[in-house]
This record gives sequence, structure tokens and C-alpha cells, in this order.
Amino acid sequence: MIDAKTGAEPRTVRQGEPRLTVVSGPSGVGKSSVLSEVRRLAPEIYFSVSATTRAPRAGEVDGDHYHFVSTAEFERMIAAGEMLEHARYAGNLYGTPRKPVEEALAAGQPAVLEIELQGARQVRQAMPEAQLVMLLPPSWEVLVDRLTGRGTEPAEVVERRLATARKELAAESEFDATVVNADVQVATSELLRLILGREQ
Ligand code: 5GP
Repeated sequence: MIDAKTGAEPRTVRQGEPRLTVVSGPSGVGKSSVLSEVRRLAPEIYFSVSATTRAPRAGEVDGDHYHFVSTAEFERMIAAGEMLEHARYAGNLYGTPRKPVEEALAAGQPAVLEIELQGARQVRQAMPEAQLVMLLPPSWEVLVDRLTGRGTEPAEVVERRLATARKELAAESEFDATVVNADVQVATSELLRLILGREQ
């Protein structure tokens, strides 16, 4: 129902309606492990493939993990209104191509974006009916352990990640739901329930 005074649509999604879910969470929280389980268990979900100007990492496939594009192409996409949201993160640009997400939702598929906080805020503005879910670590100490325990990055890189993580966690109240990743299987089933909008 539309609010008579404000004309605003309510944020709740009607039962059975495909919905857009944004999944955010700090680096090191285990987003990729949980989301790859979600993907395995529910192949009917559409996972957005972001565009990015960052270089591919070993094993990453263009068009699968990301669309790897030049800065010029990324800027062209923004100017043409092709991005649902975009943000700069750790020196690179990341954005969600709008059309495939809209097509999936129109075709009745639930859709998932795995993006960082600034992008999540833009989606909230652009699509108020979207559901924002934050994946949380069981504790701050566990996150610090996970980020420093990788042992592969210089101390200043880890420090920067922790500072970003602190900011992201401070935004928890802007999200509709949180899922604590203490156990990947438990977190996966909670997230699936939220994405599909029904009990498993
Ligand atoms: P990575 O470079 O490690 O793959 O991703 C870095 C960060 O960018 C992660 O927090 C990831 O969620 C975020 N990210 C990936 N794609 C997008 C996107 O399309 N938009 C925004 N805003 N963030 C993204």
C-alpha cells in the first residue's frame, strides 16, 4: 500500500515477490565462503557480476568473477546510466551493471549483490525495497585474527583493512538484517532464508 501522506511505497516485500538482497560485510568476514555455499544450494538465485577497474587476481575469469574494464569504460558506463551503484574501494572502481539485475528480478529470480557499504547505501536510495544484509564476524577479535592471520600482506595494508572494517561494522544499524558468520553452514542457511524470503 502507498502511504497517503508521503506517497512512499512501504519497504516490506510481498510474500512470493522476487527481491533484491544486498550482502555487505567487512573484509575477512567470510563473504565468499558463505555466498559460494548459497550459490551451490540455490542455483535459481541471480548473482550480479560487478564491473571493476582492478586487475584480475590469479584464477579470476572475466565475465564470471567480474567484468574487468578500463577506467575509461567504467566512466562511460556511469555516464550512460548503466550502473545501479558504484564506489571506489582500495584505489579501484567497482560497480553493479543495472540491466542484468533488473532483468533477473523481472523474470522472477531473486537477485544478490555482494558489494561494499557505499554501494549498499546507493542501492537503498535507488531501490528502497531492496533488503540489506550485513554479514558479521563472531567478534572483533576473530576478524582481526582472520585479517592478520593471512600473513601475506604488509602491516599497513592490514591496518587499512581494519580501519575500513571498523567503519563498515559501525553502519550495522542501517541494515535490515545481520547474519553472524560463526559457522558457514548456519550463516548460509540464515542468508538463504532472507534471500528467498521463506523458511527453508
Ligand atoms: P575485491 O577486490 O576483494 O574482489 O572486492 C573488494 C570490495 O569491493 C569487496 O568489499 C566487495 O564486496 C566490493 N565490491 C565488489 N563488487 C562491487 C560493486 O559492484 N559495487 C560496490 N560498491 N562494491 C563492490
